[in-house]
Amino acid sequence: MTKRILLSSPHMSGNEQKYINEAFETNWIAPLGSNVDGFEKEISAYAGVEDSAVLSSGTAAIHLALELVGIGQGDTVFCSSLTFVASANPILYLKAEPVFIDSEVETWNMSPDALATAMADAQAAGKLPKAVIVVNLYGQSAKMDELLEICNLYDVPMIEDAAESLGSSYKGKKSGTFGKFGIYSFNGNKIITTSGGGMLVSDDIEALTQARFLATQARDQAKHYQHSVIGYNYRMSNILAGVGRAQLEVLDERVQARRDVFDRYAQALGEIEGIHFMPELEGTYSNRWLTAMTLDPEMIKITPYELMDVLDAENIEARPVWKPLHLQPLFEGCKFYPHAEDDVVSVRLFETGICLPSGSNMTVEEQEKVIDVIKEALL
Ligand SMILES: *Cc1c(COP(=O)(O)O)cnc(C)c1O
Repeated sequence: MTKRILLSSPHMSGNEQKYINEAFETNWIAPLGSNVDGFEKEISAYAGVEDSAVLSSGTAAIHLALELVGIGQGDTVFCSSLTFVASANPILYLKAEPVFIDSEVETWNMSPDALATAMADAQAAGKLPKAVIVVNLYGQSAKMDELLEICNLYDVPMIEDAAESLGSSYKGKKSGTFGKFGIYSFNGNKIITTSGGGMLVSDDIEALTQARFLATQARDQAKHYQHSVIGYNYRMSNILAGVGRAQLEVLDERVQARRDVFDRYAQALGEIEGIHFMPELEGTYSNRWLTAMTLDPEMIKITPYELMDVLDAENIEARPVWKPLHLQPLFEGCKFYPHAEDDVVSVRLFETGICLPSGSNMTVEEQEKVIDVIKEALL
């Protein structure tokens, strides 16, 4: 059997061991230490934010962001529907109610039209959401200007789920820096990884100081162990932060490699009638974390699932586009706002979309094999 071509596998830089060894030599194995501080400073400088708090996962970062904007039982939180479940799970941790917002076609991300309708309805009902979670899917930034204008009009804070878009930018500003809080993920399949981990970023230094406090069991300043609020064990270890520092050094290279992967797919397959690649909105720069495309059922004779099976038989991993959260059994009964009354964009993208192997460590030969198998299956 040939080696399986994976969707997105970890890609080490070779420098990770240096930072890990430093941690061992100084015996800073336990949480916190110079790698934790260093990784936070380096991410802040890279993204152009005042402060960052490194955590055990991107999900933990979303949880703390929601906690910091004051979400509690019975509150409403708006969230992109076309995303991974981790974007919305923390809403349930806090016993708040998610309302899902559809996508639009130019970015596949939150539709400003749907958000505007949802906000107007919420205001009319006398209960605005306490936050809006905007996701940047597969590296593509959402329409931030339009979305922020709506959030600001109603004075509702935005939390930017940039788990998939570290290294991307929107009008020259780094993805993850538009909302009150932004979050990144360093899970094993993301563009850079610490095997598992996340980051909460913001210009609000006081809020991030509070985030670190909550992430280390919320211990009050006292000689004895004293606690007044619920805390979490959410900090990243000093060892893993060392891996993150070495990974951050090569982030821009990884972005370029993934963009090259995208370009090769688009060149080889873009001419086929009925194939459409995920667009890159003008003025934005996507890290192209995953190359995603849709197959028009009117023009392409096989479905994305059939194509995934064909690829799987050749030992190639491909995946569907995220199943919209408003269709998930977990969120049954939650409200959903479509892009237009007769057009549910997220469901259309889910039904016709497929994500191709996109790792920055994939060889050109491997990619050519994927392209050949797809051409064979479609033509
Ligand atoms: C990966 C991911 C997360 C969660 O990050 P973890 O570090 O795995 O907890 C959240 N949102 C999106 C959109 C993701 O892709």
